[in-house]
Amino acid sequence: MTDVMRESLSNIGYIASGVLFILSLAGLSKQESARRGNALGIAGMLIALLATAMRPDFSGYGLLMAALVPGAIIGGILARRVQMTSMPQLVAILHSFVGAAAVLVGLATYLGQSKPMSAAEHNIHLGEIFIGICIGAVTFTGSVIAFAKLQGTMSGKPLILPARHLINLMMLIITVGIGVWFFRSSEGGANGLWPLIFAIVITGILGAHSVMAIGGADMPVVVSMLNSYSGWAAAAAGFMLENDLLIITGALVGSSGAILSLIMCRGMNRSLVSVILGGFGTAEGTASTATAAQGEVRSIDVAGAADQLRQAKNVVIVPGYGLAVAQAQHALSDVVRSLQSRGVIVRFAIHPVAGRLPGHMNVLLAEADIPYDIVLEMEEINEDMPETDLVLVIGANDIVNPSAYEDPNSPIAGMPVIEVWKAGTVIVMKRGMASGYAGIDNPLFFRPNTLLLFGDAKKTVEGLRNALSQ
Ligand code: NDP
Repeated sequence: MTDVMRESLSNIGYIASGVLFILSLAGLSKQESARRGNALGIAGMLIALLATAMRPDFSGYGLLMAALVPGAIIGGILARRVQMTSMPQLVAILHSFVGAAAVLVGLATYLGQSKPMSAAEHNIHLGEIFIGICIGAVTFTGSVIAFAKLQGTMSGKPLILPARHLINLMMLIITVGIGVWFFRSSEGGANGLWPLIFAIVITGILGAHSVMAIGGADMPVVVSMLNSYSGWAAAAAGFMLENDLLIITGALVGSSGAILSLIMCRGMNRSLVSVILGGFGTAEGTASTATAAQGEVRSIDVAGAADQLRQAKNVVIVPGYGLAVAQAQHALSDVVRSLQSRGVIVRFAIHPVAGRLPGHMNVLLAEADIPYDIVLEMEEINEDMPETDLVLVIGANDIVNPSAYEDPNSPIAGMPVIEVWKAGTVIVMKRGMASGYAGIDNPLFFRPNTLLLFGDAKKTVEGLRNALSQ
């Protein structure tokens, strides 16, 4: 095959991959078409790999295989093994790889041989390298810290240094200064390695510090912001390598991550600007000042809860992180069918940050074949709460916490929540009185219309299924 043919085929492959990635995103936006979206994304990536290997200037097949085969095997095994509840950690660490790759590509592009360029082209090229390396370093360290927080190897509490915004601003200004030094040093050749290394260190500290300052219930937005950063890091690598597909893919990931962050921000009542600045959501001093919820807790057993379910006409189920941990979704699906066969109207209420990753609950319910049309978003169902006879809260806590509306000092003050307390009766299924991810008390448990059904959600949901089938 001639070089011209290889180049043309490779370009066609890149265009096809770009289209497949866009169709994949479109497919992933709805549960019904999510599987197809996934398949299209995989096909796009395979074509992209083939198209890259086909380029006339590409010759490193041995190196490609040495990186690709072990990488694919390790990635495949890890992705198969990972629990759904550990998915955010996996996503965070994968973002860190993209950041690290952008830094390495930047260094290699700078130190490697470049084709002859005009002075203007040379300056643009230097700009691409510097910006790519900075975004990559922020993404890398930010994602590693996010991973450590989500994994529990590092405390989830925010690290609030005095004058942290000033510290971040100083680091930004120093980075700009280093950028000038880098351009000056690169005038007569590639003599700007030291400024690049300094830039990596400073922006690396900036990324780590920004994510360390974020705590409590704000981590979901961090995960989706880092998703966006990793996209921009990939796009920057695309500019450095003059690879159009990498630019397209990076821009798709970067902008879809930013849109997801906006949606998550809305779900948590945060502003995106404060997210980008880092250290959002935990105004100094408020993290531990939530008023301790007090009062008497009334509990119920499985038989009593099954009786309440039998008597209800209209039931709303609010799933949360505990349902995912307990893996009770299949038994829950049986409970739903059993109630429906008795003529009970059953619907699900999904909070945008329920569980530990965006869409966590939707995936869980789809896995158990729960029909999509009874799964509603928080805004769709909140207004129906006063007419609901019974709400079953399964392993959820922060997303049904009334202090978000009632306690201005609460760390989650202002976050929209599912207003379960407005229903006739609320049965909360959890193991004990432990708090949720945000680490705060929940006055819902002490409301007169709330009953607690204690136990692991798998056992209690199976108990309900058995009781209802009798
Ligand atoms: P929460 O973390 O608020 O609460 C989960 C509850 O489930 C706990 O109170 C726990 O209580 C209970 N639980 C745990 N294991 C079991 C079990 N085996 N059986 C029964 N109950 C169990 O979860 P929510 O879904 O309500 O809220 C999500 C939180 O996670 C929010 O604060 C959100 O900001 C945060 N987050 C969300 C992300 C996302 O992208 N969706 C990402 C990162 C964080 P007990 O131990 O007493 O049983």
